[in-house]
Amino acid sequence: MNAQTSLLALAAVLTAAPAFADEVNVYSSRQPELIQPLFDRFTKETGIAVNVAFVEKGLAERLASEGSRSPADLVMTVDISKLAQIVDAGVTQPVISEVLGANIPAEFRDPGNQWFGLTSRARIIYASKERVADGEVTTYEDLANPKWKGRICTRPGTHDYNLGLTAAMIVHHDTAYAKGWAEALRANLAKKPDGNDRSQVKSIWAGECDISLGNTYYMGQMVADPEQKPWAESVRIVYPTFENGGTHMNVSGVAMTTSAPNREAALKLMEWLSSDEAQAIYAETNNEFPVKPGVKRSALVESWGDFTPDTINLMDIAKERPAALKLMEEVNFDG
Ligand code: FE
Repeated sequence: MNAQTSLLALAAVLTAAPAFADEVNVYSSRQPELIQPLFDRFTKETGIAVNVAFVEKGLAERLASEGSRSPADLVMTVDISKLAQIVDAGVTQPVISEVLGANIPAEFRDPGNQWFGLTSRARIIYASKERVADGEVTTYEDLANPKWKGRICTRPGTHDYNLGLTAAMIVHHDTAYAKGWAEALRANLAKKPDGNDRSQVKSIWAGECDISLGNTYYMGQMVADPEQKPWAESVRIVYPTFENGGTHMNVSGVAMTTSAPNREAALKLMEWLSSDEAQAIYAETNNEFPVKPGVKRSALVESWGDFTPDTINLMDIAKERPAALKLMEEVNFDG
């Protein structure tokens, strides 16, 4: 091999395998397009590569079966019950970090430091601008009022987002009350629960119902999509509250696995995700609420006005999830 061909061979090797000193492996149930911009920025700043495996279902089971051989360092997912499930499966380790402690308020992280919230979101009501008057719906409890008969659309009651809301209803009242609420809400539905939060707004746009339940950030996604923009424009966001509380909140978050082969680099990524810079990206590209105090919400989110977040403990919501699922099945909500 002469000097020129050996240089070419070296160049080929360098192109094929970028020389990252460190890497982090992430299992994520979050849509790749939502988190990739964050990882790209992190890699650019630190030189640490981030490898993401999109795992839609069964995160806890997969980590449990891989055990100590798991290549995963971090798990990223949405919903407090999913985070709690992963912790309960024994596949996470506590992370003690001054940075995380300073950036993330106590209500958005596990008291045992097993999971950390990175963004929050509210489960709100999308109301028809044409057919629902200002102030006509103000509480979650009111969705059970017969005045809404045939006017409500929602995704399945057994979906995590609705189970979180129902679990919060149990915490605010009790299981019997929540069951009666779910039964009455079901009786008010315009059609069988189906589809996602955005397709309910489409139904409002199409005149099939007048209000729907949905997470806040979907408004941002609809506005940005030419096909869905008219749906978004047919509704306004109403921040309902519980009669004795505020607007129902949930989180997306991160946890470190017990196996974590790249612990140091993984900790760097966790801390960076809680930084001003990353929190601003979450706010701007996903229209989620940053958890770090002082980081601004996006202008779009600001335009929906202010609201009072519910203050019940996220862990209490996770605890009532099995009871919420049971009552949703008992009232045959999705049937
Ligand atoms: Fe979602």
